[in-house]
Amino acid sequence: MTDNFDLEHIWHPYTSMTQPLPTFKVKCAYGATIELDNGKTLIDGMSSWWCAIHGYNHPELNQAVTDQLQNMSHIMFGGLTHDPAIELGKILLKITPPSLDKIFYADSGSVAVEVALKMAVQFWTAQGQPQKTNFITTRSGYHGDTWNAMSVCDPVTGMHQIFGTSLPNRLFVAAPQTKFHEEWNQEDIAELEQAIQQNHENLAALIIEPIVQGAGGMRFYHPEYLRQAKALCEQYNLLLIFDEIATGFGRTGKLFAWEHAQVEPDIMCIGKGLTGGYMTLSATLTTKHVAETISRGEAGVFMHGPTFMANPLACAVALKSTQLLIEQDWQANIERIEQQLSQYLKPLSQLDYVADVRVLGAIGVVELTFNVDMKTLQQQFVDRGIWIRPFGKLVYVMPPYVITHQELSDLLEQLVEVIQTMQGAN
Ligand SMILES: *Cc1c(COP(=O)(O)O)cnc(C)c1O
Repeated sequence: MTDNFDLEHIWHPYTSMTQPLPTFKVKCAYGATIELDNGKTLIDGMSSWWCAIHGYNHPELNQAVTDQLQNMSHIMFGGLTHDPAIELGKILLKITPPSLDKIFYADSGSVAVEVALKMAVQFWTAQGQPQKTNFITTRSGYHGDTWNAMSVCDPVTGMHQIFGTSLPNRLFVAAPQTKFHEEWNQEDIAELEQAIQQNHENLAALIIEPIVQGAGGMRFYHPEYLRQAKALCEQYNLLLIFDEIATGFGRTGKLFAWEHAQVEPDIMCIGKGLTGGYMTLSATLTTKHVAETISRGEAGVFMHGPTFMANPLACAVALKSTQLLIEQDWQANIERIEQQLSQYLKPLSQLDYVADVRVLGAIGVVELTFNVDMKTLQQQFVDRGIWIRPFGKLVYVMPPYVITHQELSDLLEQLVEVIQTMQGAN
């Protein structure tokens, strides 16, 4: 099944080049279906890592790309502008926190995070506080794979050991412990409070994924944590950066996860679902205050400008994808998926090798008591006609929103069976 050239020459995410995990060759994908080269079809449980919210090969998204292609696929953004960037910007400002007013388009989530961190440093430099250059964050976070994004990822599950002292040293506090549906425990904020109290003079910002910590552990935490974190940031002069790259565009049951807490950040990163999974695009949004302060600084400008900034094809499809989402009753649809995820997955918590089952919006997580054998499990899922990619102790699904009731039942029935028959695995 695995192509030899691929195996011998092409790197896949987080894999060895000498002992690579098998890959499955895809011929095409449509709706919530992935069709393999050998004709086998899989029901997609991953949305290609949070992105393909409307499924694959969507006629209206295809049309948006095709239409834009007739005008231009790309044009430099230095000194030039275009309708796709402008129209997308208008809609983004309508659906993101009201205080956000300025948009920086970049080409991937990691770059959006880099941009956010740079904005925070330039902001404080412009305020005459050039010593405020460091960042504080919580454990179990994930913010991307570029250098500074990596430096604020969880130091254990992230890549800190491998890169050692080549990474800037960030300040870490425990991940929020109170779960989303639990009663708030005031102790939960104590460590953050103390760390900010002691280090605020050198801290530019707190960066955090609101409500859902994604690739760092798929944890859902209490909104009160964000409310108190925001108050601390205000009290001690830190900017608050929300990384909504995974949580955005309806995935958690709100259009963006900040809405669960009604806490507005100073800077917010979006990406992943932004283009409906058609191509890579991200954006870093900030307030008038932050943008104007940076612009009053000695540099006078914000120092970043990717080659493919505001790529017109990507902006055009992002505009259409966002319109598609908000013009439908997306909330009812996410609730439908949430209910079905709960119905199938919650009973698994009775198994003694299942540590936890949690569901929020269109995200379902089964946390096991042991690390899965990815190779074996992946093959089992594919044999059963479903596409789920587990990592560590986590088997999780976040299907495209277009998945039908029947497709989701089939996907979850197979998933549940695989987990139930794992008994021998530990
Ligand atoms: C995926 C992700 C990123 C990185 O985005 P890329 O497009 O892969 O660079 C950053 N933050 C969060 C929360 C993510 O889930």
